[in-house]
Amino acid sequence: MRWRPSKDSLNPASRTISVETLFQGIGVSPGVAIGKALVFDVRRLDVPRYSVNDTAAEVDRLNAAIEDVREELTSLYRRTAAQLGEKHADIFKAHIMLLDDVVLREEVAKQVEVEGLNVEYVLDEFVQRYAAVMRVADDPRFRERTADLLDVLDRILMRLLDAERTDLRRLAEPSIVVAHQLPPSDAAGMDVKNILALSLDTGSATSHTAILARAFEIPAVMGADGLSQYCETGATIVVDGLHGVVVLDPSPETLERYREQMAQLEAQWASLAVEDRKKPCATKDGIEIPLMANVELPFEIEHSVKVNAGGIGLYRTEYLFLNRTSPPSEEEQYNAYVQAAEAAHPFPVVLRTMDIGGDKSVAYLQQDREDNPQLGWRAIRFCLERPDIFKTQLRAMLRASARGNVQIMFPMISGLEELRRVKTVLEAVREELARENAPFDADLKVGSMIEVPSAVAMARLLAEECDFFSIGTNDLIQYSLAVDRENARIAYLYEPAHPAVLRMVRWTAQAAREAGIPCGICGEMAGDPLYAELLIGLGVSSLSMSTISIPVVREVVTNTTMAAARTLAEAAMALGTAAEVKMLLRRHLESQGILGGYMSRLDTRTVERSAP
Ligand code: PEP
Ligand code: MG
Repeated sequence: MRWRPSKDSLNPASRTISVETLFQGIGVSPGVAIGKALVFDVRRLDVPRYSVNDTAAEVDRLNAAIEDVREELTSLYRRTAAQLGEKHADIFKAHIMLLDDVVLREEVAKQVEVEGLNVEYVLDEFVQRYAAVMRVADDPRFRERTADLLDVLDRILMRLLDAERTDLRRLAEPSIVVAHQLPPSDAAGMDVKNILALSLDTGSATSHTAILARAFEIPAVMGADGLSQYCETGATIVVDGLHGVVVLDPSPETLERYREQMAQLEAQWASLAVEDRKKPCATKDGIEIPLMANVELPFEIEHSVKVNAGGIGLYRTEYLFLNRTSPPSEEEQYNAYVQAAEAAHPFPVVLRTMDIGGDKSVAYLQQDREDNPQLGWRAIRFCLERPDIFKTQLRAMLRASARGNVQIMFPMISGLEELRRVKTVLEAVREELARENAPFDADLKVGSMIEVPSAVAMARLLAEECDFFSIGTNDLIQYSLAVDRENARIAYLYEPAHPAVLRMVRWTAQAAREAGIPCGICGEMAGDPLYAELLIGLGVSSLSMSTISIPVVREVVTNTTMAAARTLAEAAMALGTAAEVKMLLRRHLESQGILGGYMSRLDTRTVERSAP
């Protein structure tokens, strides 16, 4: 069961503890779930090393394990082909071919005999060495097979070690997933119908897995350090995604208390007047502030239409590149973009060119491990080095612009040089399409994300060469405050209300206004009701957020005037610390008498979590 708690009625500090254990993390997706835990481990298996006398028996074990894996992959292939089509199932066919590699079998058998060691150790060593060579091969097709090889190795090792790994894409029963970490690529493919909630030891509110949890409307807690070690599959847990609390083995009183909230909470959410959502979102004095949707996966497009979003302000197109073995074709991308453009029509769809890298690494495209992936080969840095992939994406986007109101936006722009380089590639693609007589919108708007501090410094000049700005606060905060957005250990330093962040937002919005272009925000800060009025007071003209946040932010925007928002922004800018800013915003929100018991989830994270 799931429901959403009111902050006032559920104060974790007032709970009595019996046998239960509380884990304090960060609430990243509101709501509460009670259910059975399913502990999921994506970390590498521990492979033991020991001597054996009967080497022939070891080789037999290997052959038996390979046959088991073949059966498993064949059935996965058939099931996936039936459900999703041959194209999606091809990955399993490629894995079966790797199992048939005679050299691998022969080499491993020979080494087991020579060294007298257990087969899983020899196999692991052999494949890891092989993978290291593949990673640096000249031929990209060879490099791109590395991830597949390691995946197959994992499956064989699991058989040999009799280890179990849950397949999150198919769960037998409704469960709460508990894990040390969960990359967005795994999260994107989860069997959402059967996932009641998510709790990770790591991560933070702007991790992409947290963003996906909100997209799926699954209560989620990140940074619940140690839970995955203490908790066993089958244990009863409560996940409180608003306060960032997880209760392991809750007492009957705790369970009762959570259950009692259900009716009250549902009423609170229902009270966010549905009929008001039909009107365009505007302040009381009639200034329209479009509330747009952030989209990662196609199902969110439909959700955004249901809540009357003013378009799609951020389509994270890199999700089309995850969980597969080669990039999506131009046609596949074109269809995905057209689907979004047609659904959002007449409102715009802002297609962000792929932001792979960071926590969304794509094994078949980026083999090298990076020490600092967030500062590494991400987004347009990757695209500018792989014009083949970049141009295909731009062709698909431009062609889709003939079928709706499409805009294109570039992530991680750090200055004019990069902006000009990506625009040159775009221009070349335009010319190519024009030569082919392929239709596209000749007036298509092109924007830049402002998420690198140097882009803020360069905002005035960038604004002269862009049609719009969209501030990516998730990265802008990470880079300007030097706080890794994935790192739960320092999440208390990740501070949207930091006066430096507010100044950067104001500066960027001002530069856009002077150049006569709009400036929106598409980072998670835009979906936090605590900040909505402040942001429009600072000069931001639209807010793009997870669909789940649109009703609550609409409530804030429609209950203020532009003048009041500017006064609030002035007051906030006069303060020197984030704590003072948040206090001001909290009091202001409370004085409005709106939102009932619902208060900002990100505010909960930043106010109630303090430095260790
Ligand atoms: C951002 O950085 O604020 C943003 C919207 O992009 P992403 O979260 O995908 O990095
Ligand atoms: Mg970003």
